[in-house]
Amino acid sequence: MSKIVMTTPLVEMDGDEMTRIIWQMIKDHLLLPYIDLKTEYYDLGLRHRDETEDQVTIDAAEATKKYGVAVKCATITPNVARMSEYNLKNMYKSPNATIRASLDGTVFRAPILVKGIEPYVRTWKKPITMARHAYGDVYKNSEIKIEGPGKAEIVFTAADGTETRKTIFDFKGPGIVQGIHNTDASIENFARACFQYALSQKEDLWFSCKDTISKTYDGNFKAIFQRLYDEEFKKPFEEAGITYFYTLIDDAVARVIRSEGGFIWALKNYDGDVQSDMSATAFGSLAMMTSVLVSPDGNYEYEAAHGTVQRHYYKHLKGEPTSTNSVATIFAWSGGLRKRGELDGIDDLVDFANALDRATLETIESGKMTGDLALISTLDHVEKLGTEEFILAVRARLDEILAGA
Ligand code: NAP
Ligand code: MG
Repeated sequence: MSKIVMTTPLVEMDGDEMTRIIWQMIKDHLLLPYIDLKTEYYDLGLRHRDETEDQVTIDAAEATKKYGVAVKCATITPNVARMSEYNLKNMYKSPNATIRASLDGTVFRAPILVKGIEPYVRTWKKPITMARHAYGDVYKNSEIKIEGPGKAEIVFTAADGTETRKTIFDFKGPGIVQGIHNTDASIENFARACFQYALSQKEDLWFSCKDTISKTYDGNFKAIFQRLYDEEFKKPFEEAGITYFYTLIDDAVARVIRSEGGFIWALKNYDGDVQSDMSATAFGSLAMMTSVLVSPDGNYEYEAAHGTVQRHYYKHLKGEPTSTNSVATIFAWSGGLRKRGELDGIDDLVDFANALDRATLETIESGKMTGDLALISTLDHVEKLGTEEFILAVRARLDEILAGA
């Protein structure tokens, strides 16, 4: 069989620890035998980030804007322990934060469903994709601990010096106060990314916040979503046969639990943080979740939602057997290849990405899986495989599928 030819390179961002080992295994066993893989390679492994003083991360983000599609391996976010472990020159920022800031994106996360790993919520039949705004609110706050009586005020000084002032609270005793913000530009980018993603997935879009209580702040989010929908997305949504609707977050939570799934749920930063942990757990596991960063001008960066699985890596270094789940990383690759195929009109690449996903799911459904899933599987015959063994089992199934089975 001749290899699939690519026309535009995929931006490849290599990473750290166990996921770096998995990255290479996926390329060797699941991609290179089938595709004339064309990537522009950026080594975001911590050593090379340190050698380049993190320039490589900025270059990788720029390349994503140039080519439009990237695949990223999990990376270490340096902390004090990593400073000495890797003898780093600086405590570099999280690569995800750098890339997000450069692409101005929204993160979409969806569970990967397989038979034998049952959601805790019985009604859920299809994935629920969470779209989390990744800027502002309590993540960029200003807080004061109030020690005793006094007045807390909120003051805005306009560029021309005009002041707007409001009392927050007259304290009679100790308490706390917090100031938060967001910008129309960031909210609009978030809304646009959600509408575009819903169109690309052909799924309904829900947005929820609490505008009955927070009439100005959350009201602004609701109004921007509605304006953008009316001005730009109403027609394409109708043509695609999908709907957009706004509902209060408490109503949304109740509806989500009663739903079958199969939609995109847009949430403010904090709501998205909390609700995506809830949904990932309710659906099964972090290693069974896809994650894609989408920028408002249509650039895509695919990754796994989990970290570098450090504890497994240290076992691997000692030569001990590991059973690390590679599904999220396989799906990051298939997601990137599928998008590249769609953009470049290469049907073979799209078909291959679909076959790879199918092979991965069918391998697990046949009872062959890594240890994390073996623990929670409801199948009768479960065989726990090692890290590389699982990838080889996927390859065996992939060969059958490609041969027409
Ligand atoms: P983690 O790598 O996600 O691992 C936490 C634990 O979850 C693991 O020890 C393992 O449990 C389980 N786990 C996660 N992924 C798994 C998989 N694919 N297969 C099987 N089990 C899996 O998080 P962490 O230990 O907090 O962080 C490690 C490093 O990753 C840190 O340096 C952090 O900065 C980085 N990180 C990167 C990203 C990213 O680049 N997207 C995201 C988060 C964290 P057991 O050990 O019990 O088996
Ligand atoms: Mg969280």
